[in-house]
Amino acid sequence: MRLKAHLRRRCRERGLSKSSTTGKTSFHGELQKLTTKELNKAQCEILKTVQRDAFSNELTAIQNQSGKGSEMNANKRHRRKQQGYSRFHRLDPFIDADGILRVGGRLSCAEGSYESKHPAIIPQDHHITELIIRHCHIQTAHQGRGMTINQLRSSGFWVLSGSSTVSRLIRKCVTCRRLRGESQWQKMSNLPKDRVEPTPPFTYSCMDVFGPWVIKEGRKELKRYGLLFSCMASRAVHIETLNSMTTDSFINALRRFLSIRGPVRQLRSDRGTNFIGAEAELREGSNTHQDKIQEFLLRNDCDYIHFKFNVPSASHMGGVWERQIRSIRRVLETLLYEAGQQLDDESLRTLMNEAAAIVNSRPLTVDNLNDPTHPEPLTPNHLLTMKTNVLLPPPGHFQREDLYSRKDGGEFSISLTNSGSVGSESFSRVFNHVRNGLAHSVKPV
Ligand SMILES: [Zn+2]
Repeated sequence: MRLKAHLRRRCRERGLSKSSTTGKTSFHGELQKLTTKELNKAQCEILKTVQRDAFSNELTAIQNQSGKGSEMNANKRHRRKQQGYSRFHRLDPFIDADGILRVGGRLSCAEGSYESKHPAIIPQDHHITELIIRHCHIQTAHQGRGMTINQLRSSGFWVLSGSSTVSRLIRKCVTCRRLRGESQWQKMSNLPKDRVEPTPPFTYSCMDVFGPWVIKEGRKELKRYGLLFSCMASRAVHIETLNSMTTDSFINALRRFLSIRGPVRQLRSDRGTNFIGAEAELREGSNTHQDKIQEFLLRNDCDYIHFKFNVPSASHMGGVWERQIRSIRRVLETLLYEAGQQLDDESLRTLMNEAAAIVNSRPLTVDNLNDPTHPEPLTPNHLLTMKTNVLLPPPGHFQREDLYSRKDGGEFSISLTNSGSVGSESFSRVFNHVRNGLAHSVKPV
């Protein structure tokens, strides 16, 4: 549009000069008489002016070359190079009948318009170039560099250093920045004390409900929910399944969790409104029975911190557990795909626990993941079980046949006769590993 305005201004100036000399045609009358031919002529004039401004040396060199034919010797070529002709030597430039410098090449016999085969060469740092690029960029509905350059080419323009020039102008385009600009980062506040205090796993925990999952029991289809507990410090997870969203089911799951993981000092949760499908049920379950749940937790010396986040966009404030749920769901999707979609109660519980084990085996840091000299990355499983996936021999002197005992059904289980407690040497080794790893690896995410 701005390019067109320039063309019209050019025509207007010409019209005014004519009317001032003849005194017959008015300014508005001259504008109405504009034709495509006149616009093209105005464009040619503008292009010639631009090229005269930017490529005066080159134009002179090319005119001299065409005048002397093919007799140019090496000295003249060298002189032409010194004059700056080599800036677009590879474009094989020539001056057409209208006096415009155009790209040569080998496409003269090809189909297509003359302007697209031999686009006019324009400099990269001229105001008119900027207007042309903006016009083509708007014509392509603010698309990227490639499409804008293609539009320039098909419109009959060849911008020197086109890629960088177009990129520079697109970066400055207000519409593009508004539509596709990167979101700004906000400075994060300090992590709460329970995120950074070194405590045994699940001392400071958070929880959230996710689901539902549909299972089959006989011919009935029932809903089951997952209750995720996540340690604020070690980022370990623990999953219990809920048969329903009732308080009793919830407290039963809490009791199972406390029995396995030990006492909890503090439990955080939101209102569970993050899953649209189960939103109504989750809201009902979390709102109506808060007092009873809190009373139960206080009996176990556990503070219950309840976040009343009803604003949908505030779910990032529970990002610690929301991110864990995403990991769990991704693992469960794969496990369910492999196990088949029709699950019963027991299978779902098994898959939930396996998903938790897989998520707990993720490295807490990836800084030294590819460093062969660095010890194995720290995972939540190291903190929970003090074991790695590679089973170490238990401490002390054992007979090989004591390590495992074959049970019915061909399954192996660890014999507990001699390895009931972890030896002090192994324990301290794992603890040192954990401490060193924590010092380097715990991240505020
Ligand atoms: Zn744009």
